[in-house]
Amino acid sequence: MQKKFYLMMALLISTILMLIVYNVTLVRNEIIENRYNTLVNDLRGDATAFGLWIHQKKNMINTAKDIYQNFSYEELMDQKTENPYFNINKEDPSISQIYIGLEDGNFLTGGRWVPPEDYDPRSRTWYQEAYKADKTIVSNIYTDRETGEMLVTVSSPFYLEDQLVGVLSADVFLESIRNFLVAEIEQRNSYSYLIDEDGTIVIHTRQPELEGQNIHMIQNAPALTEYFEKAKKTGSLVRMSYEYEAEQIIGIVQKAEGRNWYLVVARVDETALMDAHLTHQWMFLINGIMLLSILMLIYMISKTRAELHNMNELLTKENEKDFLTGIYNRRYLNLYLESLWKREDINQVSILILDVDFFKKYNDFYGHIMGDDVLKKITQCIDDTVREKDVFARFGGEEFALVLENVHESKVKKIAQKIIDTVYRLNIEHETSPFERITISIGAVTVQPSHTLSVREAIDYADEALYDAKEAGRNRVAVYAE
Ligand code: GH3
Ligand code: MG
Ligand code: MG
Repeated sequence: MQKKFYLMMALLISTILMLIVYNVTLVRNEIIENRYNTLVNDLRGDATAFGLWIHQKKNMINTAKDIYQNFSYEELMDQKTENPYFNINKEDPSISQIYIGLEDGNFLTGGRWVPPEDYDPRSRTWYQEAYKADKTIVSNIYTDRETGEMLVTVSSPFYLEDQLVGVLSADVFLESIRNFLVAEIEQRNSYSYLIDEDGTIVIHTRQPELEGQNIHMIQNAPALTEYFEKAKKTGSLVRMSYEYEAEQIIGIVQKAEGRNWYLVVARVDETALMDAHLTHQWMFLINGIMLLSILMLIYMISKTRAELHNMNELLTKENEKDFLTGIYNRRYLNLYLESLWKREDINQVSILILDVDFFKKYNDFYGHIMGDDVLKKITQCIDDTVREKDVFARFGGEEFALVLENVHESKVKKIAQKIIDTVYRLNIEHETSPFERITISIGAVTVQPSHTLSVREAIDYADEALYDAKEAGRNRVAVYAE
């Protein structure tokens, strides 16, 4: 019972604990996931802004194309260098110059650059790529031979009177891309870098010293390389979370608008480590409190239980004993008989009812106090006579009951007679009795406990037998006979 109780409690605690840990972990994961998603959404916005910027440059070229549609070939060819029509980029400092490479090998520019005699735009990459793609494209990054500046070219096939005549291009300063990224992205507390398809960092807004380095070569950033390769392979946005130089970096890498560039937008997640740490502490605290409460509860339960148990034991003891004689009382007798009726190993139960003869007369003559003494004396004497396993109880008043388990009917009468003789031999003076001493009569019955015969009926049979013993003259036993 005790063992079972503690086992069940242990099971209960572990179940509750597991539930707590499970739930707290789930909540913690949800919190982290939620914060991560919010961040990624922010960063995605940054990446989109960059895409829009590149788009703007492409649009500018497309607008220029629309304007030139209204000119004739001759009009455009009027001035090859510093052509005023090609000066529409004055408003946009990010653009170095706008120029056209024509199918006939001519080259027109709004800038000051005068091409050498043998210059053929048709052999240039920007020309060939746009020509081949037949749409507006962004070139790879290159260094301008004259100025040494890093540039990208936005180029688009150019039509005059629905006739393809060349490629219209604009050189965009790489520095302006950086400025844009710095302005747009750093205001959100994040930083970004542009990687070309080989993994070379083209622009890095946070650590410019990394520009020109390949991310595969950067030490301590294996995770970054993995994310980059994944973005390259899938072509879709990849979320990143990695540690770099003791900082928790969170971000996204995504193929950028235009070339095969990959834009990384990242942020040092200062709250991540701290939060995770805090969440852990919370988890421990909650668990600790829960565990403590459960332990206290169990302690209280077991304490209450122990107290109740003790009290019950006392109560049961008090309840089952007769106050005057100290032997079992009628309540206990009934419970005992009921339990016998439920037992499988009981074939026969003998019930003997013992009644003091002429006891009223004794009381009347000697008084109640002396009567009580007699009851105690004969109780003691009978209790000593019967076996340990026989249940001897006070049935009420001067009546007692003796219950024998599995004793043959023939022996029951002998046992009863032995008790009667023992009391007789006590020789307690009773002047007003014809026997001149205290005697008892016994009515006995032996039954087979079953649901067709109740405990009550069995007692009634014993009572009937007692009546017979009294009728027959007292100081004797009578056995119930059907
Ligand atoms: P019988 O031989 O027919 O049994 O006669 P009886 O007088 O013993 O029977 P009766 O039932 O007429 O009276 C029983 C008496 O037992 C009545 C009462 O005074 C006495 N008695 C019952 N309980 C106690 C008790 O606890 N103490 C004392 N002193 N007397 C008791
Ligand atoms: Mg009586
Ligand atoms: Mg009597």
